[in-house]
Amino acid sequence: LEKQVIVSEKYSAIGKMAAGFAHEIRNPLTSIMGFMQLLMERARKTQQEIPYADIMYLELQRVNKLVTDFVLMAKPSVPDRKLCIAQNVLTETVQLMESQTILNGITLDTDFHTEPLPLFIDPIQMKQVFINVIQNAIEAIGSRRGRIVVSLKQDPHTQCAVIQIHDNGSGMTEDEIKHIVNPFFTTKEDGLGLGLSVSYRIIENHKGKISVSSEKGVGTLFTIQLPIHHASDC
Ligand code: ADP
Ligand code: MG
Repeated sequence: LEKQVIVSEKYSAIGKMAAGFAHEIRNPLTSIMGFMQLLMERARKTQQEIPYADIMYLELQRVNKLVTDFVLMAKPSVPDRKLCIAQNVLTETVQLMESQTILNGITLDTDFHTEPLPLFIDPIQMKQVFINVIQNAIEAIGSRRGRIVVSLKQDPHTQCAVIQIHDNGSGMTEDEIKHIVNPFFTTKEDGLGLGLSVSYRIIENHKGKISVSSEKGVGTLFTIQLPIHHASDC
């Protein structure tokens, strides 16, 4: 299978405006959610019930996630870089995802057998990337019996850390691959289509690379390359 380097469409003036707009929605939204929590807390204490409060709060959370992801995608914050060990960041991320894979009967295996690889990254942002990719793998496997393998190696030529996430889920057509990092591209009924566009921006800000190879009905392999500490770009 040929590996395809993912390209993202340049964002337009409209995209920038939308990002500013989303940013402005966040403040009133945060205060509405705060007051909702307060009301729910008060109702709970006096053993009253506010009809549909749970639904309202869940829907607000959904809007909040959409807006947050959109802002991050359009204008990702400058990475707050620290010296991290790749194995540790990956292990912590895999642990976060384990409850979901176990629940879905998916095998989640790791292969980190290299010497400790130092990275100069924003661990919170980078974990978000790995979470997004693993989450997609889980969703691509769905209710089928499946396996996800997360591996880490060092490229002997570029010295870069190479992280691969492999799944035997639904796979993608070539046409789908072309669109996956475009904001709001989704093939899922309840998808937002922001996970990979956010991830793409974060990797780009870290001077890394992300590529994918996939075959419909067979599976998908995401490859993320990150420069190791003190090394040049990948
Ligand atoms: P969302 O998950 O909300 O749909 P993403 O940006 O995370 O948004 O992914 C965009 C699309 O890329 C998905 O809807 C899916 O079609 C495709 N995709 C991403 N990862 C995989 C994968 N591992 N296997 C199959 N399809 C994938
Ligand atoms: Mg996703």
